[in-house]
Amino acid sequence: MDKPRFVIPASEAESMAQDSNLTVPQLLPTLVPSAKSLARPPISRYHVGAVGLGSSGRVFLGVNLEFPNLPLHHSVHAEQFLLTNLYLNAEPRLHYLAVSSAPCGHCRQFLQEARDAPDINLLITSSSDPYTPLSNFLSHRFGPHDLLPEDVPLLLEPHHNKLSFLSDTQIKLCNGVCAVGGELRYAALEAANSSHAPYSGCPSGVALVDCEGKVYTGSYMESAAFNPSMGPVQAALVAYVANGDGGGYERIVGAVLVEKEEAVVKQEQTARLLLQAISPKCEFKVFHCRSA
Ligand SMILES: [Zn+2]
Repeated sequence: MDKPRFVIPASEAESMAQDSNLTVPQLLPTLVPSAKSLARPPISRYHVGAVGLGSSGRVFLGVNLEFPNLPLHHSVHAEQFLLTNLYLNAEPRLHYLAVSSAPCGHCRQFLQEARDAPDINLLITSSSDPYTPLSNFLSHRFGPHDLLPEDVPLLLEPHHNKLSFLSDTQIKLCNGVCAVGGELRYAALEAANSSHAPYSGCPSGVALVDCEGKVYTGSYMESAAFNPSMGPVQAALVAYVANGDGGGYERIVGAVLVEKEEAVVKQEQTARLLLQAISPKCEFKVFHCRSA
């Protein structure tokens, strides 16, 4: 069986649409059932699939993820997965979104972090309504514009947080002792450098490595409404599900978190809890960084 794909190149999406006599936006809802089949919701058994069209013409998939033995708020919703997938692939805008169920309030809010969020065209495949702007689903929105100056980069826009490691001492101590002391920390630092944390000023990033040595990174992504924010481990798990071979989380054997030591928002304890629940043998290390 082919490995599931979570990104479809623009040229391929175009030809898939043409073959079916559809436009690419019309193609999106036809891909929702296959997206749904990739969801991992062991608690609710309720599969959600989201398919989005970005400004480059690429098509992105999103699915919901649930984690047994943890509180429900650790879950990743399909729309959050989708936005994270765009983020991982440096896609700056989301224009169309087809999703199998009506987006919950949490997701309508999280989508506000994208530039021009009210103009995202949304179609719910379980209803017969055509594409409708997101502004119709969330009027009187509260979003980044309420808290940030206009020129601050929004969620899908490039971020350069200018972070570097606090000192080489911790790294030297770790080298040669732990499996996760090598390149993984630089992958996590890079993820922290592209983290979207304008509300707390506490960017962070996570890098995971699986038993075959493949690395997956995720950046912490904040929401203006705080609670819908996406933790860096969840973001890295999106990369694992989207780019891995479809295996279970127990294949994740190492993890590095990079965050500021004096951060007012810290990820360390939550990250440890989540990793412990999904892959108990995973080696977890934290490295601290500072702003340049
Ligand atoms: Zn949701």
